[in-house]
Formats: sequence, structure tokens, C-alpha cells
Amino acid sequence: MDATQVTVREVRSVGTDTVALELETPDGFDAKPGQFVLLRATVDGEEVSRHYTLSSPDVEDTFEITVGVDPDGDLSPWLADLDAGDEVSVEGPFGTVFYEDEDVVLLAGGPGVGPAVGMGERALADGHDVAIVYQDDSPAHEERLAELSAGGATVVVTDGNLDEAVAEVAGGGQVYVFGFREFADDSLAAVEAAGGDPDDAKVENFG
Ligand SMILES: Cc1cc2nc3c(=O)[nH]c(=O)nc-3n(C[C@H](O)[C@H](O)[C@H](O)COP(=O)(O)OP(=O)(O)OC[C@H]3O[C@@H](n4cnc5c(N)ncnc54)[C@H](O)[C@@H]3O)c2cc1C
Repeated sequence: MDATQVTVREVRSVGTDTVALELETPDGFDAKPGQFVLLRATVDGEEVSRHYTLSSPDVEDTFEITVGVDPDGDLSPWLADLDAGDEVSVEGPFGTVFYEDEDVVLLAGGPGVGPAVGMGERALADGHDVAIVYQDDSPAHEERLAELSAGGATVVVTDGNLDEAVAEVAGGGQVYVFGFREFADDSLAAVEAAGGDPDDAKVENFG
């Protein structure tokens, strides 16, 4: 989809410095869990664009992104200040890392919890095994993680070393990694330490 003005349905806090934006799905827009969109806005007279990954299990009627708010960042604080009824420019979807109807092991760092819960909900609804390892010292999306756990997913939240947590869920399905570069590197090292092949992991590096 070319750049399209999309209406914000809701902005809600889902944790410390973390918001979920629910956006109205424009005609013809389709995306799979794991794919991302480009959001573009004019902030203080400058055009800014950044990528955000889908955090809803589907894009029927609305879709969601989860934004970790960096108070010194250009776009994320602006997004957190949006209100229902505002519009934002959306382009996409993009990305070759997406859910393919399978058992999943989802490794998430920081705002990577968004795509992890979205894909986890979708895989669980499809009858697949779901394991999530989420590294954060102030976890977000706790309600949805609790629901996933109640629905049968294995959910491990850690603020420390990934190796032990990844070893617990290794071999449970296709490995996906969502988060910033350092987290992605640590995740792949943990996969290898647990006897897996890091080359088989699907990695969405937030930069
Ligand atoms: C494929 C992909 C998917 C992504 N998905 C998500 C997602 O689902 N959720 C999410 O929250 N993020 C996601 N991101 C990251 C997102 O695109 C933004 O990078 C993030 O939100 C920060 O943007 P910002 O404009 O708020 O901050 P920026 O303006 O980019 O700044 C980030 C930090 O860098 C500092 N900085 C900026 N420029 C300089 C400089 N020249 N020198 C020193 N420091 C500097 C700023 O002070 C700030 O602390 C994704 C990124 C990619 C590539």
C-alpha cells in the first residue's frame, strides 16, 4: 500500500513508556503478524519516518502497533501524544519475517513484545504451540501475556540473562526474534548455546 492517511482509533498505555496504537485498517491493506509498516509524520516542521511492527493477531477492521517511547526520540513521543480521530501516514506492509501457520518460539526484547504477543495470539488461535521469552526490566503488555499463558502458551519474562530462559523453550517451534540489535545478538547466542541453529531463526532487528 502506498502512503495512506489512516485514522487512529485508540492510543493506550500498555506499560512504562510503551503505548499501543490501534489504527483503522484502510481498504486493501493486508499484513501478516511479524510484518511492519512505515509511519511518517511532520514533527516540528521536519518530516520523520520510522518502522513499527504489527502487534495485533490480524488486521481485520483495525490493526495495532506497539511503540516503545524514547523521550529523546523524534517520532515515538509524537505518536504517544496522538488522540483518537487523529490521522497518521502509513505505508506497507514490509518484511519477509512473518508468521507461517506453525508452532512458534518468540524471543522479544523491549517493544519487541508487541509482535510477540500479536503472533503468539494468532498461533494459539490456530492451534499451535507458543512459547515466549521476553526480556525487559519493566515489562509491558502484561495482560495479554497473562491471557496467552492462561491459553496454554509458555511465557518466560526475564530482566536478566537470556540463556537459561531460551534453553527452557528451545526446540518448541520456529524461532522468531523481535527487538533492537543488542537483544537480537544476545538471542542468537542463546539459541546457539541451547543447541539450536541461529541461522534458522527469523530475526526482525529494530536497529
Ligand atoms: C524493521 C523495524 C521494525 C521496528 N518495529 C518497532 C516496533 O514494533 N516498536 C518500536 O517501538 N520500535 C520499532 N522499531 C524502531 C523504530 O522504528 C524507531 O527506531 C524507534 O521508535 C525510535 O524512533 P524515534 O524517532 O522515537 O527516536 P530517534 O529519533 O530515532 O532516536 C532514538 C534515540 O537515538 C538518539 N539519537 C538520535 N540521533 C542521534 C545522533 N545523531 N547521535 C546520538 N544519538 C542520537 C535519540 O536521542 C534517541 O535517544 C522498528 C525498527 C525497524 C527497523
